[in-house]
Amino acid sequence: PREILLPKDLTLPNTDNFRKVHLAYLPPKLPSLAKAAELLCKIQHVPSIETLGLEKKPLLTKACAALIAYFEQTQKATIDQLKPFQPINLSRRMLIDDITERNLEIFVRLNGHKGPGTLRHIIDRTKTPMGGRLLEDMLHHPWRDLEPILRIQAAVELLCLDDAFRFELRNILDQIYDLERLTQRIALNRSLPKDFLALKNSLLVLPKIKTLLETKLENNPNPILDEIIRNWDFLDEYATLLSQALVDDPPQTITDGGLFLTGYNQELDELLDMVDHAEQKLQALLEEEKNKTGLTKLKMGYNRVFGYYYEISKAVETKIPEHFIRRQSLAHAERFTTQTLKDLEEKLLTASDKRKTLEYQLFLELRTTIAQARSRFLAMSDVIANLDYWQALAEVARLNNWVKPTFSSKDEIEIVAGRHPVVEAMLGQTNFVPNGLSLKVGRNFCLLTGPNMAGKSTILRQTALICLLAQMGSFVPATKANLGLVDRLFSRVGASDNLAQGQSTFMVEMMETARILRQATRKSFVILDEIGRGTSTYDGVALAWSIVEYLLKRPNGAPRTIFATHYHELTALEGRLAELFTMNIAISEVNNTIVFLHKLIPGPSDRSYGVEVARLSGIPAPVIQRAKELLQNLESGRQGMETAVQKTAQMLLPGIDEKQIAPNPKETQNQPQEIHPLLDAITKIDPNSLTPLEALNLLIDWKRRWGENIQTSKDQKGKAKRQKA
Ligand code: ATP
Repeated sequence: PREILLPKDLTLPNTDNFRKVHLAYLPPKLPSLAKAAELLCKIQHVPSIETLGLEKKPLLTKACAALIAYFEQTQKATIDQLKPFQPINLSRRMLIDDITERNLEIFVRLNGHKGPGTLRHIIDRTKTPMGGRLLEDMLHHPWRDLEPILRIQAAVELLCLDDAFRFELRNILDQIYDLERLTQRIALNRSLPKDFLALKNSLLVLPKIKTLLETKLENNPNPILDEIIRNWDFLDEYATLLSQALVDDPPQTITDGGLFLTGYNQELDELLDMVDHAEQKLQALLEEEKNKTGLTKLKMGYNRVFGYYYEISKAVETKIPEHFIRRQSLAHAERFTTQTLKDLEEKLLTASDKRKTLEYQLFLELRTTIAQARSRFLAMSDVIANLDYWQALAEVARLNNWVKPTFSSKDEIEIVAGRHPVVEAMLGQTNFVPNGLSLKVGRNFCLLTGPNMAGKSTILRQTALICLLAQMGSFVPATKANLGLVDRLFSRVGASDNLAQGQSTFMVEMMETARILRQATRKSFVILDEIGRGTSTYDGVALAWSIVEYLLKRPNGAPRTIFATHYHELTALEGRLAELFTMNIAISEVNNTIVFLHKLIPGPSDRSYGVEVARLSGIPAPVIQRAKELLQNLESGRQGMETAVQKTAQMLLPGIDEKQIAPNPKETQNQPQEIHPLLDAITKIDPNSLTPLEALNLLIDWKRRWGENIQTSKDQKGKAKRQKA
């Protein structure tokens, strides 16, 4: 959020999330629930709060009313032109926390820059600001439900298959301005004349889009586009009104005048005639005066002090006409006015003022008319946003050769020849090596090893991005993808410091991992990169190892996971945990130099080639030489470590080996589960139908029956342990 509105007595935790947020405080007196509901119905023009989906949401209702009270206080106006309120239902969306969003470089690169290098930069082919905002929203919250995803896919596919249709649509969309913001500015009375012109031009384009869609859909029915056509609103009365009212080249501000076309308002036309033809009218009067007085050299002038005047040169010796009133004597001339000149001047001056007043009044009328139709404008703005979003996805799919993913009801990820959309764009399609990956139920944990620079992080991220893109309704960079829907995306990639918050790199790494271990579900997708790197090797291996075990042992099922690591020791887990399999990234050694093949292959990698990669990076030769010697010495001690690893691998966590190594899942399914009678008793009662006394009696009974047993057996165990010690 950019701004948070709080009750006076509430403070927010001092965390990073709130650092850039503007805090505002609520007015002290807030409406009651009944008053809040009444206010919302009034402002949203609905009969009851059920229409807004707020019926069982008293806190939300009060919060909305508080927000409106705050608006009214700060805007000093009643706000009745808001979009319809809709409770945000994130349970239908894939959750991507901000750390994951940052790690995947969706909006911002790890170096803090926006633009090239981000996913948004690759896929934002929208033509309108509304489309751009929808795309941004979808990148934050892709769908979790299949139904909306398939609807978007169908539209994207249609647009993808017909280039001419898409090009034409893109051209037309290019001519549409920000309908939503324009009408918002107009409704809030913050608009300029050019906003109305932009609105008019946008409205004039709407019929072209409808015709284009209709032509296309004649032979290609498409539910989502058909629905758009059925509900199409040309807003034609406003298009006509604005076309009749506005000039093509409006002034900067309304006070400059000249906004309205001739013929729009008769009174204005008359006043304009007076103002526009002032010069001719003054000239005619001068000619009349010349004829009347015979002063052929009479001139007319204007200055700010005296207004319009006649001037006679002193060189012309003549008798001054009687109706001439002297205004000013100069060295070489005399200046005069007359009653007729004063009258004309007065008319001209008031005409100009009257014109300004009338123009402003007409402008306000136009504003009110548009503001009152705001909901219709917003509905069309949504339509345009969606069309633009679909065409953008189609355009990017077509430009980059992406395919339509299919969805599986199982928790799997099956990708053939997947690519990282951003890395591919940087390297060029021919230089990027595509890689397939398959995470299946019962084999959903990929332990990925490989030398530095091989492309581990790239695989991790590309898999996550493919899931994200697919759930936005987009095509994906692969030749085939079959995906089980993901409820949350988690990533822990690379080391990031948070020194400003007083946390070390390692602390941040562990905090992020902790969050994943606690929150990931069976439906989540987790990518973990080099967990444990931030501490000593032994601590790191031990932590990484136990994290792998824990993820696979989670009571609600293990999330699909790719775990990239330099700790080869972990590959000893393969074959011991049924879900875990190893992959590595191939390299080849030519003339003592390593060549990165970037190809994902089954099995663990043999070594890490850190020293070779360091050599490629330009570390001075003596350092490399010395490192090689040291490495040889250290590796001679590796045998001990490997034995320790093998031993450790035998000591899997109690419970894991039975559960995870169980060769045949069917066997486990058939085993009857033993349920404690207390649990059974709890599941059988209905708390809503119990009186407090009955509940208390039940508790006493349970405690009598089982409470003491548990106590005793625990005590006995403790006693036995103490004796053993
Ligand atoms: P480290 O272990 O040192 O962090 P890594 O194995 O995670 O390295 P990446 O950061 O994924 O390696 O990739 C390193 C570089 O290799 C990328 O910047 C990219 O230029 C290149 N690369 C990665 N994957 C591919 C690929 N599939 N095809 C072509 N180039 C690739």
